[in-house]
Amino acid sequence: MSTVCQACGGSRLERFYETPSVPVHSCLMVRDRAEALRFPRGDLSLAVCHGCGFIQNVLFDPSVHSYSPDYEETQGFSARFRAFQTELCRDQAERHALRGKTVLEIGCGKGEFLVELCRLADCHGIGIDPSYRPERTASEDRERVRFVQDFYSERTKDLRADYVCCRHTLEHIGPVRDFVGMIRGTLEGRGDTVFFLEVPDVERVLRERAFWDIYYEHCSYFTLGSLARLFRRVGFAPTRLWKGFDDQYLMIEASPGDVRSGEHLAAEDDLPRILAEVRSFRDGIAEHFARMRGELARLRAKGRVVLWGSGSKAVSYLNTLGIRDEIEYVVDINPHKHGKFLAGTGHEIASPELLREYRPAGVIVMNPIYVPEIRASLEAMGLAPEVTAV
Ligand SMILES: [Zn+2]
Repeated sequence: MSTVCQACGGSRLERFYETPSVPVHSCLMVRDRAEALRFPRGDLSLAVCHGCGFIQNVLFDPSVHSYSPDYEETQGFSARFRAFQTELCRDQAERHALRGKTVLEIGCGKGEFLVELCRLADCHGIGIDPSYRPERTASEDRERVRFVQDFYSERTKDLRADYVCCRHTLEHIGPVRDFVGMIRGTLEGRGDTVFFLEVPDVERVLRERAFWDIYYEHCSYFTLGSLARLFRRVGFAPTRLWKGFDDQYLMIEASPGDVRSGEHLAAEDDLPRILAEVRSFRDGIAEHFARMRGELARLRAKGRVVLWGSGSKAVSYLNTLGIRDEIEYVVDINPHKHGKFLAGTGHEIASPELLREYRPAGVIVMNPIYVPEIRASLEAMGLAPEVTAV
């Protein structure tokens, strides 16, 4: 068990949420139900650092993970998500005048963000990710963007760029200070380089008791304040700190500086509030589980119920609440997932087209932001089930 904070090195850690035996992967596609049911498991125990507010799974074991091309993290099939991504690309391209420059993305997944950024900004890109799949990139983009199928490490750190970004990667990394420090090290003497990073916001998870957003792959959880404190500690000067995607994500922009450089940002001062949110989450989570089970029972009394969205949230929701036969299918618009099974509970992932025949009475949406587009899809199929979001 880790007894020190991976962000600040402090030892005043307080454990506040335990979920034993959760699947160690929730985005890895599993080809049959038996394999899904015997999926490797690990224990989750979240602790908050009283020194800096960083939250980590103190029982996390990185050796269980492999991020292979079977890892399916993309949300790019959703119109709502694509709109968010396009808006972010435009913002970054214009704000940092990226035209003609070279951008580097650490942990680029299948490369959707990087390719769009390079197209919109008219610039060149380098993407690094072990789960990258060449066939997902259109041939006309291959001249513009080069991909390295690897982890960002000592081997790849010499790649140079004018702008560096890292989105939804740091939450998968245990030693966060070492990792952000390594990126800072590669930018030594390059004070004009912008570093942009995006991670999920744990403050919302705590406030909304959104336990489905807590899972084994995410071993590190940030607030605006704990993220900015980590950046300053390794020698980045944060210049902009904000939330996006309906306040679900945190964004930070920084430049290489020293601990004192850069303006203090008001959003950094969140520590007393976060510690209070942690206590409230700890005291209220059992009651929240009971309420979620009650909501499923109410829908089941009306007829069949499906889950919409087969990502990590669904895996965590089903495993944490111990849901098996009450739900038969999880639907998803990503065709790469159809016919596969969810790790841990073994639920089958189906196309939304299945619902034409299946005619559910209730649809539980794993992210409220997608409710309007899901309602529209159901209406287009002539279906009118009760749609609720977790
Ligand atoms: Zn700390």
